Amino acid sequence: MNKQKTIEELKQIIQAEHIKQDEPLREYTFTKTGGNADFLVLPTTYEEVQNTILYAHKNDIPLTILGNGSNLIVRDGGIRGIVLILNHLDKIYMEDGKIIAQSGATIIDVSRFALEQKLTGLEFACGIPGSVGGAVYMNAGAYGGEISQVIESAIVLNEKGELLTLTKDEMELTYRSSLIAKQNYIVLEARFAPVPGDVKEIKEKMDELTFLRESKQPLEYPSCGSVFKRPPGYFAGKLIQDSGLQGAQIGGAQVSTKHAGFIINTGDATATDYLALIKHVQDTVKANFGVSLETEVKIIGEED
Ligand SMILES: Cc1cc2nc3c(=O)[nH]c(=O)nc-3n(C[C@H](O)[C@H](O)[C@H](O)COP(=O)(O)OP(=O)(O)OC[C@H]3O[C@@H](n4cnc5c(N)ncnc54)[C@H](O)[C@@H]3O)c2cc1C
Repeated sequence: MNKQKTIEELKQIIQAEHIKQDEPLREYTFTKTGGNADFLVLPTTYEEVQNTILYAHKNDIPLTILGNGSNLIVRDGGIRGIVLILNHLDKIYMEDGKIIAQSGATIIDVSRFALEQKLTGLEFACGIPGSVGGAVYMNAGAYGGEISQVIESAIVLNEKGELLTLTKDEMELTYRSSLIAKQNYIVLEARFAPVPGDVKEIKEKMDELTFLRESKQPLEYPSCGSVFKRPPGYFAGKLIQDSGLQGAQIGGAQVSTKHAGFIINTGDATATDYLALIKHVQDTVKANFGVSLETEVKIIGEED
């Protein structure tokens, strides 16, 4: 890939100030780790997203989409090709009694918008720090609620840049996965169908969940939330705790002493530290309990 040629061609599609070259992705991830993107592109319209996909496809340039970076570890070698972030596409509005949210809006803002509209069903999302796109892709959930319970449909682009509308059933939303993840679709917007509720009860529920989150999670440190999926019949945090791993540290990455399912960045962690600690936790839990912990966090990019 000729970088100079690529940047000139990208400028035909995206305004120059929304293209960054050799951009450090640690600025865009919640762990504050990770290498550089060759090109970071921040589109402001759906057409720009579509044109970027078509351009990448035509020129055989790898394309990676990031959301809010709250469930990601980007390896220290960074990401080759084009990285797309849709955080300029962040409108949230009502249409026919449903909430339409663009992919780059945060799901926390969607939850707050539902409260303002006196709608119930999105309280569970009030502390999940992802974007709408990332939340739909992951079928994010907490405290008994998840995206699949409240989403009606989503507009996505496939790898050829074709626009598709998927109903909830077509999205195949399962535990922290979806058809969108399997097919590498890009979410542009989602339609949510919360129902009228009592504003006081909605607010109380959100306050209660916020209190639970703040008291149990190490929110004072950078992290990517729960690192591992819940293994059938177990809780990942309990297995890690019972293995005596809380406080275990490699480089600047540490298994949280507050919540065993979290790995925090104590200050100068690299993605390599994170990955070594994840492997150490997986190996130790496997040796102690015979359970394989699968990562919930997505690990992408190249080694240093
Ligand atoms: C403190 C903390 C608490 C958390 N609590 C919870 C919780 O309670 N429940 C929960 O489920 N998760 C939780 N998470 C994890 C995370 O917030 C969710 O998984 C969230 O849905 C990820 O969204 P994101 O936009 O940050 O995605 P990213 O981390 O940026 O990306 C995750 C995946 O989604 C893909 N993606 C992102 N945007 C799009 C798009 N527009 N189209 C297609 N694919 C896309 C990416 O390619 C990547 O594979 C927590 C994380 C933190 C740091």
